[in-house]
Amino acid sequence: MLLLGTLHVSGCGGDDGEDTSSGTTGGQQTTSSNSSSSSSGGTPGSSSSSGGEPSTTSASTGGDGGADPAGTGGADPAGTGGSDPAGTGGAGAGGGGTGGGGDGGSLPDSGIPPAPGGGNVPKPAGGAGGFKVVDWAGFAGAVTYSFDDVNQTQIQHFDEMMALDVPFTFYVWTGKQEANNAVWKQALTRGHELANHTRSHSSNDNGSDTDAATKDMKDKYDVTPYTMAAPNGAGVYEGIARTRFMINRGVSNALIGPNDNSNPFVLPTYIPPTNASKAQMDSEVSSARSGKKWRTFCIHGFTGGNDGAYQPIPFQAWVDHVKAVKAYGDVWIGTMETIGAYWRGQKAITDGTNTKNGNDTTYNWTLPTNFPPGKYVRVTVTGGTLKQNGAPLKWDPHGYYEVALDAKSVTLSP
Ligand SMILES: [Zn+2]
Repeated sequence: MLLLGTLHVSGCGGDDGEDTSSGTTGGQQTTSSNSSSSSSGGTPGSSSSSGGEPSTTSASTGGDGGADPAGTGGADPAGTGGSDPAGTGGAGAGGGGTGGGGDGGSLPDSGIPPAPGGGNVPKPAGGAGGFKVVDWAGFAGAVTYSFDDVNQTQIQHFDEMMALDVPFTFYVWTGKQEANNAVWKQALTRGHELANHTRSHSSNDNGSDTDAATKDMKDKYDVTPYTMAAPNGAGVYEGIARTRFMINRGVSNALIGPNDNSNPFVLPTYIPPTNASKAQMDSEVSSARSGKKWRTFCIHGFTGGNDGAYQPIPFQAWVDHVKAVKAYGDVWIGTMETIGAYWRGQKAITDGTNTKNGNDTTYNWTLPTNFPPGKYVRVTVTGGTLKQNGAPLKWDPHGYYEVALDAKSVTLSP
């Protein structure tokens, strides 16, 4: 009984589906309208959250980021520079700042860490063709670590978590006292994602409690969430999320593949069992890596807390696990928003249309609703020149071009 009660309050697991009467009401529809013309790219420092994000992954280009805060934005052919609320502009940039020189201006500031490899892949010099989105941005697979309920042990271990230097997603139960802790704003400025876990953590909602959390997050942290996690995995949130978010995380475990039919509004996730070992967690990522897929984790807290976190895991086992994943060097560790936008952006292009004009082929797509602005995918071709809004894209010697999703088209010319 008591156990069930605990589970109900702070778990994402457990009960579910009790109520599918989706009371959806129209949401904020923050669709990122087309490329923001105003490309005021040069104002890097201004975006709210800049910060160290892109040190992101395994590729461990170290988080020094941003050697060049002045550069990037301005040359962005998609003109998205100025409007990036993810704050990847500014100082952060990690690997992005390499560019400069060469054809087509500087490399965009995509916020995605450089793909593994030596960074010496020659620009394709064959005939124009072979347009293809690169799975997982050039990594073997992807993993997202999400943390629910702003639990005490997340706060207690916050500095150690930050020291791992990989991006996390925190699903904030905004009505909890702990949501006011200063660490959450720090997380945001360091490039982590804060996202919606509703204000009251109820297994039922007509949308108002979800919207209240979005408002709370704007008020407390000045951030707009693009993903949510359904409290207790309740089925009612699928419909609520559809009109408000790019992704709603569910509670059942499965791998997510490029262009597959996983439901973005009940996105699979792995919840480690109580006392999970490093080996148990490792196997969830190694199967994603070998299968070239994405695994998301849902973690509530670490052993030793007294706030009833659902299925707490030993902190050191988890740290050792994350270090092992980083050591692979070819697994993309990113937030739900970052990797989710890549996954959904790739699908949008796959589902798009092509138009021919002379020797030019233009690939057109429509972005999902409630899609975050300033996102990119990586593409390869056999040769030719890729342009967006008339500006040629620069080849990244890690093996791809970065295509701005906001532009909604890219043209390949001989
Ligand atoms: Zn929860």
